[in-house]
Amino acid sequence: MHVLIIGAGPGGLTVAQCLRKQGISFEIFDRDESENARFQGWAIGLHTIIDDIVSSFPNDMPDLKRSTNHLAPLTLPAQVAVHFAGTNGRIGFEDCPEKPFIRTERYRLRQWLSTNVQIQWGKRARRFEDDHEGVTVHFEDGTTAKGDILVGADGTNSHVREYLLQQPNSDLLKIVPTAAIVGQVRLSGEIFRRHLALGHSGWNIMNPKRNFVSFNGLHHVLPDGHSGHFFWIFMQPDPEVGQSDHWLRTATQEEKLRHVLKTTDSLSPRLREIFELTSSTDVKEDLHYFRDLELDSLPSGRVVLVGDAAHAMSPFRGEGGYQTFIDGLKLSRHLIRLDKEGNASDIEAVQAAVTEYNREMLQRGGEAVRASRGTHKELMGKAKVVSLLLAWVPFLLSLLLRFAIKGPLKLEPLPEERIMLPGEEQMEEKQKVEMGFWKRYVSAILLFLGLGGIISEKYKQI
Ligand SMILES: Cc1cc2nc3c(=O)[nH]c(=O)nc-3n(C[C@H](O)[C@H](O)[C@H](O)COP(=O)(O)OP(=O)(O)OC[C@H]3O[C@@H](n4cnc5c(N)ncnc54)[C@H](O)[C@@H]3O)c2cc1C
Repeated sequence: MHVLIIGAGPGGLTVAQCLRKQGISFEIFDRDESENARFQGWAIGLHTIIDDIVSSFPNDMPDLKRSTNHLAPLTLPAQVAVHFAGTNGRIGFEDCPEKPFIRTERYRLRQWLSTNVQIQWGKRARRFEDDHEGVTVHFEDGTTAKGDILVGADGTNSHVREYLLQQPNSDLLKIVPTAAIVGQVRLSGEIFRRHLALGHSGWNIMNPKRNFVSFNGLHHVLPDGHSGHFFWIFMQPDPEVGQSDHWLRTATQEEKLRHVLKTTDSLSPRLREIFELTSSTDVKEDLHYFRDLELDSLPSGRVVLVGDAAHAMSPFRGEGGYQTFIDGLKLSRHLIRLDKEGNASDIEAVQAAVTEYNREMLQRGGEAVRASRGTHKELMGKAKVVSLLLAWVPFLLSLLLRFAIKGPLKLEPLPEERIMLPGEEQMEEKQKVEMGFWKRYVSAILLFLGLGGIISEKYKQI
């Protein structure tokens, strides 16, 4: 069997690694000229599937956490928190032995996923053909590739999907009714420490009164461990966001930042600080809405989709990448079985395998798309209840989170933290030792003076 993979993002590379482990022949192509051609995004959280990824990939892969952890060189656990406007305290989850959670930096993740995989760069797939015998891909540079299976892992604007469904993406992708303003900022020293304390990897701010949610995240820590790059995605419900005259289409970076600062002006200073520290030149010019895709069915044959090509979703729940990995792992299992049973050329066996994969993938992916789109109103309703509980009966909230909410991660009230940056632990230890010395020294003098006083009193009495 020979598999052609279009797209070297998380989806395509997951399939590539699983096939590599089994010694199955494949080629992987990407339109980018090189691995550094395009910004990869900030970070992707991995949790329940970590063991599955590691065991499905070849043994020569470097350690996943060490290679991709966005908090390195800090030793803090990955942690995501939620803050509610007008309430102190926060809830969230963090990496722990029972429920491991890795927040991977995107560029490092792609490097890790590319381990010992020969990606063919500068190959933009333009045209496809498939029949009962096999598949052919035509690239923009005039070359072609032939195989038994074509995996479309080419993201939200997938050409493979357009071919498979014979429908343009403009008809298939739906605009999510949420207006977004996105900014980036580098923070250092004491300010860096303060922001890590809000949520090591990221923190949501929910404000039901002003009707906004902002996800503020760490992209990665700089090698000195005393600074980091952060980003924020400020979101408000807006059914008109897709309209051609929407104000965000023509707004300048200054206007966008002004809007965020005005809408967040009632937040506590610590939550508002990240917006205030962002320069207008670091507010994104282009991105202001998201598109998603929910498919009921897909044709079953030699062409199959994974990841955003099959179920693009709003980034609100941070699930797109996670679902993409699950697709890659599950599709690979079907492909491996086809190969082991020698069925790659039997179109009926291929169709049966792809039908089974599509059924599960479309249901799981559809649920994630709907949950990520969410209703802002519902979310704000929940935020009101949680913030009241957090302010008045935190104990009840702990019980509720522990017993009533089932999920892959352990959501709980998180205590306030004092973050230590590299070198500070030793400094603190040294200070403790010095303090100890001075305490003992002063105590000895006081004791000496005290004893001296008692003796001289006794002497006077004699
Ligand atoms: C702002 C934002 C924030 C996000 N944050 C998170 C998060 O925190 N957590 C999370 O889990 N997910 C997040 N996501 C979603 C996540 O990025 C995607 O779900 C994931 O990258 C999908 O992987 P993929 O492999 O399907 O597609 P992609 O990552 O888009 O990769 C597709 C690849 O295909 C290549 N390609 C495209 N067209 C062609 C062509 N014609 N020929 C050859 N190659 C082609 C591209 O160059 C690219 O390398 C976020 C998304 C956005 C937009």
